[in-house]
Amino acid sequence: MASYHIETYGCTSNRGESRRIERALRDGGHHPADGPEEADVAILNTCTVVEKTERNMLRRAQELQEQTADLIVTGCMALAQGGQFREADVDAQVLHWDDVPGAVRNGECPTATPDAEPVLDGVVGILPIARGCMSDCSYCITKRATGKIDSPPVEENVQKARALVHAGAKELRITGQDTGVYGWDDGERKLHELLDRICDIDGEFRVRVGMANPKGVHGIREELAAVFRDNEELYNFLHVPVQSGSDDVLGDMRRQHQVREFVEVVETFDAHLDHWTLSTDFIVGFPTESEADHEQSLALLRETRPEKINVTRFSKRPGTDAADMKGLGGTIKKERSSEMVDLKMDVVGAAHESMVGERHEVLAVEEGTGDSLKCYDEAYRQVIVTDADERGADLGDVLEVEVTDAERVYCFGEPV
Ligand code: SF4
Repeated sequence: MASYHIETYGCTSNRGESRRIERALRDGGHHPADGPEEADVAILNTCTVVEKTERNMLRRAQELQEQTADLIVTGCMALAQGGQFREADVDAQVLHWDDVPGAVRNGECPTATPDAEPVLDGVVGILPIARGCMSDCSYCITKRATGKIDSPPVEENVQKARALVHAGAKELRITGQDTGVYGWDDGERKLHELLDRICDIDGEFRVRVGMANPKGVHGIREELAAVFRDNEELYNFLHVPVQSGSDDVLGDMRRQHQVREFVEVVETFDAHLDHWTLSTDFIVGFPTESEADHEQSLALLRETRPEKINVTRFSKRPGTDAADMKGLGGTIKKERSSEMVDLKMDVVGAAHESMVGERHEVLAVEEGTGDSLKCYDEAYRQVIVTDADERGADLGDVLEVEVTDAERVYCFGEPV
């Protein structure tokens, strides 16, 4: 868990994005710092209305990189002119707003609060299904707060899900440190059984499954893929953080899976589902990562082509075993992370570009910039619908859209 400092410039919609980032960070157990000098990570949410603003943003980024261990630059200037930060030699991760919480997480699983109860936020119902995990990753500080997996019975979670749907939830988000090991403390993994039961609830809603580590998913991959195939309520979206393409590094990270198991999960889902989204995370620059290990991570990314990728530059968390390892130099970490982010942008961009001209059924989940809605298709790809008022579209609506254009990490769609 990290302390963060966030600075926001520009319009109300940018401030809205910062509020969303902060909410996700606090939900993940992170906390605000007393200024950039005290923070593990500083987040600069930029604006780019006029040239003078751009110069101010670059200057502020340069100041913040001196004051804080890690800097993330996001917002309009990061998206439209991200290259300028590199040209100015700013040592920052340049990210879309949606990718910021994942990068702050530093490869750790999200942390639920101890009394994690379901929450309804607009049309989104957040349902924590269990606390804890079955792992002991060497870089993780979350584990201390969450402990070993503790899974309530299936029936209890189904009742909570039903209550959320009856209260108006159109999208249920199933969360936990590691949803793939739900039930393991009770003798067997039961994520597939729970999802099947939740999809049986009366009502119109979709379900997004939160992070599940490859080891937990691997043992139930056939059953899980079949549940996704058979229930249209489930977004065809699986977040399985692999973290490295090298078994040696995975061993040093004390991850419980090997690369082969991750690939087998992907192959199983490929066999069962036509349109689905693989989401994964890579930690770049782990202390024992050699150049050859890094090349293996790039090769794995090219091979499996995830449509959503969180790239985190390794940073030490005090009190973890990885913090005692001799680290790599900042320049090596920066170069490897830039290389992986460039590849990620190519892979993710191609996935969204290939959707142009297709028709999809999307659910409007959040308000976007101006009069737009952030919608998600069957595979949880983000599709922006503009001029929502004019089109009579509202949150919670299911719309048939044609994809008309694509940015790197999202598409634009017009209702048909
Ligand atoms: S799976 Fe690893 S990173 Fe996630 S909470 Fe457990 S020990 Fe931490």
